[in-house]
Amino acid sequence: MRNSIGRRQVLAGAGASLLSAALGGCGAPLLRPATAAAGPARLQLPPLRAETDRITAITVCTRPFRAQGPRLDVERIGEKTVVHNYGHGGSGWSLSWGSSYLAMGKVLATGERDIAVIGCGALGLTSALLLQRAGARVTIYAKELPPDVRSSLASGIWSPDSRICLEEHATPAFKQLWESMARKSFRTYQTLIGLPGAPVEFFDIYLVFDPSDVASERGQPADGRPPFAHLEHELIPDLTPHTAEFAPGSHPFGARTVRRRTWMMFNLNAYMRMLVSDFRANGGSIEVAEFHTPADFAVLRQKTLVNATGYGARALFDDRSVTPVRGQLARAIPQADIDYGLFYKGVSFIPRRDGMVFQVVGDSDYYGFDDDTTVPDRAEAEQAVHTIAGLYA
Ligand SMILES: Cc1cc2nc3c(=O)[nH]c(=O)nc-3n(C[C@H](O)[C@H](O)[C@H](O)COP(=O)(O)OP(=O)(O)OC[C@H]3O[C@@H](n4cnc5c(N)ncnc54)[C@H](O)[C@@H]3O)c2cc1C
Repeated sequence: MRNSIGRRQVLAGAGASLLSAALGGCGAPLLRPATAAAGPARLQLPPLRAETDRITAITVCTRPFRAQGPRLDVERIGEKTVVHNYGHGGSGWSLSWGSSYLAMGKVLATGERDIAVIGCGALGLTSALLLQRAGARVTIYAKELPPDVRSSLASGIWSPDSRICLEEHATPAFKQLWESMARKSFRTYQTLIGLPGAPVEFFDIYLVFDPSDVASERGQPADGRPPFAHLEHELIPDLTPHTAEFAPGSHPFGARTVRRRTWMMFNLNAYMRMLVSDFRANGGSIEVAEFHTPADFAVLRQKTLVNATGYGARALFDDRSVTPVRGQLARAIPQADIDYGLFYKGVSFIPRRDGMVFQVVGDSDYYGFDDDTTVPDRAEAEQAVHTIAGLYA
């Protein structure tokens, strides 16, 4: 099933949320009031080569969304203790260190120090590394390894409340848990800034709005479906810089309104490679293995496991609460002088060094919801590039 691209526009102030929502996330209102832009009177940006013949790949992936949020409980299966760590929607990279830190605590509480981690994506790798640092001997078992895991197909930005749960499930207890995961992850990411290969870095993104956008709807579901939770503004407003606004005439995009935000970006080729090498350098081993039912865990020597199978948990654990949320990226040849991102008319552009990312993010959090099709849509990819190109016309 494919969802069509909605025609609604968004309020200028809703763009930041919609973008982080769509990329990972949600459709929250503007995180904080815009402040007057500091710095040069006129914003100057090198022109982007937004050209469809520079597309090198179109990738499609399903976010592992659970209405109630990620599954993080501990389950006894036969002789094994299984610590679940899956179902992070569009926030898996952003929350990975914090979520895996919680999983590590539950693993260590069993007293075992020979641990199996099932899965080699964002959550499996961070669980494995944190357990190693705590002194455990860790083996990763996974059907696919990077770069062939779903985590490799993410947009690669800090989007910690992107489709993380529905608003009705954002209880005070969940909010506390989410905030601890987000803060722990953010702190950990600061230790990865400035490393060779730039696995993690900050970038400015410009949210551009036509004058007519300001009077139209924002990105909440208009059809009565329950809204997604938007937690960043309420719980961690201090982590990223305030928004700055550029009036028409002070930026290169004509009569439009432009807002600048600064976000964190993950260059996933370099970042995943670094995580895998660190794991191996710490003495970790990786075995390719597929489990068809939880009973298959019986063949493992380890008594305690972390289940970090992501969307795979839907089939492995027959967990129908894991809902696919389709997302497609058009990857394009990197441009060395482009270090800024853009969001315009429901399309985002992220200046990843390992392949620039153009993405239709739609007009609400439900874009791609319950859609498990993974066939690339060339027309959608070209639409994304053409929309951004329109800014330079
Ligand atoms: C288009 C898109 C954009 C996104 N953008 C962002 C973003 O910008 N920021 C962000 O934070 N998040 C983003 N996300 C979300 C993020 O990618 C996911 O939440 C995250 O990748 C989930 O990681 P994971 O480790 O749980 O799962 P996966 O990466 O799917 O890893 C699962 C692992 O388990 C293994 N496995 C699964 N089933 C079995 C089995 N039966 N037997 C053995 N092994 C098994 C797999 O082979 C794999 O190794 C995005 C997602 C999509 C689709």
